[in-house]
This record gives sequence, structure tokens and C-alpha cells, in this order.
Amino acid sequence: MSQPLLELKGITRSFMAGEREFIALKGIDLTIEAGEMLAIIGASGSGKSTLMNILGGLDYATAGSYKINGIETRSLGDEQLAELRRDYFGFIFQRYHLLTHLSALHNVEMPAIYAGTPQTQRHSRARELLARLGLAGHVSHRPSQLSGGQQQRVSIARALMNGGEVILADEPTGALDTASGKEVMQILAELHAAGHTVIIVTHDPKVAANAQRIVEVSDGEIVSDTRNTGLELPSDAPIEPKRSGARRLVASLGLFKEAFNMAWVALVSHRMRTLLTMLGIVIGITSVVSISAIGEGAKRYVLKDIQAIGSNTIDIFPGSSFGDSRASAIETLLPSDVDALNQLYYVDSATPVVGRHLLLRFGNIDLDAQVNGVSDRYFKVKGLKLEAGIAFSESDARRQAQVVVIDHNTRQRLFGANVDPLGQVILVGNLPCTVIGVTADNKNMFAASKALNVWVPYETAAGRLLGQRHLDSITVRIKDGQPSKVVEDNVNQLMLQRHGTKDFFTNNLDSIMQTVQKTSRSLALLLSLIAVISLLVGGIGVMNIMLVSVTERTREIGIRMAVGARQSDIRQQFLVEAVMVCLIGGIIGIALSYALGGLFSLFVKEWEMVFSLGSVVTAFACSTLIGIVFGFVPARNAARLDPIEALARD
Ligand code: ADP
Ligand code: MG
Repeated sequence: MSQPLLELKGITRSFMAGEREFIALKGIDLTIEAGEMLAIIGASGSGKSTLMNILGGLDYATAGSYKINGIETRSLGDEQLAELRRDYFGFIFQRYHLLTHLSALHNVEMPAIYAGTPQTQRHSRARELLARLGLAGHVSHRPSQLSGGQQQRVSIARALMNGGEVILADEPTGALDTASGKEVMQILAELHAAGHTVIIVTHDPKVAANAQRIVEVSDGEIVSDTRNTGLELPSDAPIEPKRSGARRLVASLGLFKEAFNMAWVALVSHRMRTLLTMLGIVIGITSVVSISAIGEGAKRYVLKDIQAIGSNTIDIFPGSSFGDSRASAIETLLPSDVDALNQLYYVDSATPVVGRHLLLRFGNIDLDAQVNGVSDRYFKVKGLKLEAGIAFSESDARRQAQVVVIDHNTRQRLFGANVDPLGQVILVGNLPCTVIGVTADNKNMFAASKALNVWVPYETAAGRLLGQRHLDSITVRIKDGQPSKVVEDNVNQLMLQRHGTKDFFTNNLDSIMQTVQKTSRSLALLLSLIAVISLLVGGIGVMNIMLVSVTERTREIGIRMAVGARQSDIRQQFLVEAVMVCLIGGIIGIALSYALGGLFSLFVKEWEMVFSLGSVVTAFACSTLIGIVFGFVPARNAARLDPIEALARD
């Protein structure tokens, strides 16, 4: 005798209902041959569905043996059971269990997606099946646009998609009117005639009367098993020649692409939720990218400014440090120190500086300005540019010439826009001086101010204006390429030698630069931390909504599992969805940051946000990582759902 198709021996299924154990199936023995049409009948709660679910590999028996084609199912894992459901069984449910956001065509093709059938083949077969079931005109309709009978026919088409050698129908007519119910039974009879094994669960004896064999279940036990010999086979042409199990035609790469398509459909069909999920990531990525761009821009701006002032200058002041109250009484900083410093190998040039606030007068305008006595090298040392005229020369200095270079602010205040200041004579204190040059307006953030500065030769200032020989400070410009730290040490040594005591201190802009760099580094670290926190919050948002989404879509997951999705397929789908949400969020975030950068440049002229490829790549990597990390738990939860419980959910 040939092997029976399905063979159950002593199948028991018990559920834990609280503390007590409830036994739904009590040692079922049943043998079903290939090509049989069998009705399982019994009162509600007798255990029919439980039996059906075990037959279809959706559920495990607590005890007993169930063999399919002689293979013991107990030895099969979840994945292999899923493959059995996918390639071998076709489920038809009382409530159709179609996915509401998919068209009839996409519902029907779903089992073939999990079987790895190429799209063109899938679509043509799904269309063919729908056409044969009288739904040619409803291919792209959603379930909500179809009647109950039509929906049930879509679900029959789905059951046949991968061949459906064994059709398992649980109360297939239970939700239908009489006419539609008859139609469905007719189709099932035709499938039987075409060679399919058809198992129908029903509580309705009239429905059961369509089957050749009727098995009656009561309280988890088979109470009768009768053959209905008088029944005629339908003479209609078979709906579909029986197909032997579907073939896995393309490798998992195709399946991955399908996972992307499915994720895309799922995201698009829940636009609002998708958008909200994304929001956290969008904000997170925008802040990461913008903050790093602002940080980089600000750093470059500050460093550029410092470099413009000249990081390679050292200032020497009297006293022990800034704020030393005795500094004004120290008169040891002398022009001879400047000469000595100018002899040092590392020194490009040194200039004396004396300064005091004095009154400037031109016509009837009086201004209080900082008057500086400096050498002709001062402008070079400080990197000052002239917008008009020339700076004074060495011979001007020797002659104690009464010439003055004024800054842009002073020019505005004294002469206005219309008078050429060059050649005009102004009073500096009580000394008439000819304006010979104007320094350019300084955009530099350290120097930019409303302060008024004018410069006269040091000799003029010392000899004719201030009557002081000692200097207020000395500015030393270091030769290009010399290490400022070493030069500063050398300058200190020389000055100490000359003065015999440390009655001065030096200040090097290089150390300011280093401070700025250090500050901007720690600032960047702090900002990155904030950005990381916002990304984390975004990620948790994704996880939260994905978890809700898994709960919400429990039924969908159950349906997918019933048509043959393996746990890994479900896990992959939800992971792909999470990563996709995060990636799209990341792309929007990057675009938004660039838009912000554009906006920024409209309002702030002095500096701009600096975007780096690195931060964009990091943003992409971050969003993918967030998707994987925070999508993992929801995806795992989805994959671990029990298909029966999932299907029972509304
Ligand atoms: P039928 O389909 O014949 O109406 P079922 O097979 O659905 O009956 O259920 C049989 C019995 O098993 C019922 O009493 C039901 O309450 C119980 N049952 C089914 N599934 C579960 C479950 N997951 N947990 C607890 N009890 C269950
Ligand atoms: Mg039932």
C-alpha cells in the first residue's frame, strides 16, 4: 500500500488556561490520502480549528505523531514548517485574512514572493488565477472594494499560488451569503476534481455534504468517520492542473529586493506614521550634520582671523602679567631692547609701541583716540593694510616727522565720506600732524570695533608728544616657519639677560590659537554628544513606533506566516522597514542641513557652515546603524509571534 499523504497518530493538543490545562485534542488518529476531499465537522469549540492548524503546520501537537508523506513533523524546525506551508499547503480562512493595504493581485502573489518566484512569473500566474476565479476585472482592487465572496475567491487564488497541493479551508463559507457560499464550495469541488487534496472544516452539515468523507469531531475526539459514496464528481474542467510544490527560483537576493518593495509599500500605505517615525531621525541627523558644519565653519573663521592678525607675533609687556597694578610704574622696556631683539636670528622684526589717549582735532571736530607711537615696521608686524596713502618711513622716524596714519573709523569720524584725508593737517594732542595714510577697515573679529586708533612714528611720540622714553610694549614678529614656542623662550631669555630681573611678560597669539583649537575641539565634542543624544532619542522613537507597528500589524504577520513566510523573512522585512525609515530620515536630514546652510549664508555674511563629506557619510552610517539597532527588537518580536495567536488578533 502506498504511503498516506497525512497521517496523525494520537495527536493531543493542550492549552494552558491560567493554572489549569485545557485539552483541546485528545488523541486524534486520522489518515488522509492524496486527492481526498474531506470535511471535518463538529460543534463550535470541539477542536476543529486546532486540528486544522496542526494539519497545516501552523501549530504543534503537544503529543503524538504527525507525518506528512511519511516525514515526522516533530523533527522539523519552524523554518521547515514554514516552507511546508509555503510550498505545499494553501489556507482558506473564514475571514479571508487578506492584507487590507494590498491589491488583490499583491495578496495573491504573496506566497510566491516568499518562494522566491520572479516578479513577471508571479504576476502572470496571479492574474491567471484571479481570471479563472472570475476576478479578472478586480486585479487591482483592495479587499475593502470587494464583496465577501470575491474576497474569499482572492484568498482561494492565494492558496493556489504556489500549487496548493493540500487546501485547508477553515469555515470557508462561514461569513458568506448562501449564493457566495455555494460558489466557493463549487470551486473547492473543482479543485478536488483537479487533483488537489481538500480539507474543509465546518459546523454546517450542508457544507459537509459536499465532501466524499466526513469526519466528526466532538470535544477533541473523532466520533465518526464516514464515506459519502453517493456524491458525484463535478464534470467541469479543472480550474488548475495540480502543480507539484513551488520551486525556489531565485536566490535570496531577489527576496531581499522583495523585502525592500514590501517595506516600501508598508511605509507608503502608512504615510503619517512613517513621517512621525522619521521625525526623530530627521531632527537627529539634521542636528548632527548642521552642528558639525557650524562647528567647522566657526573654527575656520576664528583661525583665519587669528592668522590674519599674525599668529607669529609675540608681545612683550611690562609687569608680571595682564592686570599687574605696578605695570605702569615699570619703565624698563626701552628702545634699546627693540634693537637687541631685532638682532635675534629668529626675529623678523620688532617694533616699539607707546600709546595714550589724546584728543584729535580737525576743524571743529574733537575726538578722543588712542595715539600709538610705533616704528615703520609696525604695519608689517601687525599685518595692517592701508586703504589710502602710505605708512611712515625710517627717515620720518629719524626726523621725528609730524606725520600720522589714521584708521578707517577715525577717517569716517573726522573727515566723513567726502573729504580726502590725505595731506590734511590734524591736531594730535597739541601737535599738528599731516595725515599720510589710512588703514583699511578691519573685518577681523578681534580687531573690529568702533575704537579709534592713529599711529605716529615712535620717535615723534616719545620726543614731541608724550615725553616718555620707556615703551608700553614691544611687538616681535617671528620669522616664517620658526617655532613660536622656542622663539618666545629665546625672547624671554634675552630680555631677562638685559633687565636682570623678570619685570616683563610675553604674550603669544600662537597660544591663543592653540586655545581656540582646544576649545573648539571640546565644543565639538560637547555638540556631538548633544547630537548623539538627539539621534538616540530619534532611534528610541523609531523603536517605539516600530513596536507599536508590530502590535498593530500582528494579524498581517500571522497572515504572512500562514502563507509561508519564515521567521527570517518576517524579521528581515521589519528590519528593512526600520533601516529604510532611518535612511530616508537621514537623507531628509542631510538635505535639511544643506538648506539650513543656504539660509545661514543669506543672513550671515562673515562666515559660512562648512559641510564635509565625512559628516554626510557619518550621517548615512548613523541612520543605517540606528535602523538596525533600534529595529532589531521590534523585528525579533515580530518574527517570534505565534502565527495562530497572530491570526486570531483583530
Ligand atoms: P472549533 O474550531 O472547533 O470551534 P477550536 O479548535 O478553535 O474549536 O478550539 C477548541 C478548544 O480549544 C476551545 O474550547 C478553545 O477555547 C480552546 N482553545 C483554542 N485555542 C486556544 C488557545 N490558544 N488557548 C487556550 N485555549 C484554546
Ligand atoms: Mg474554529
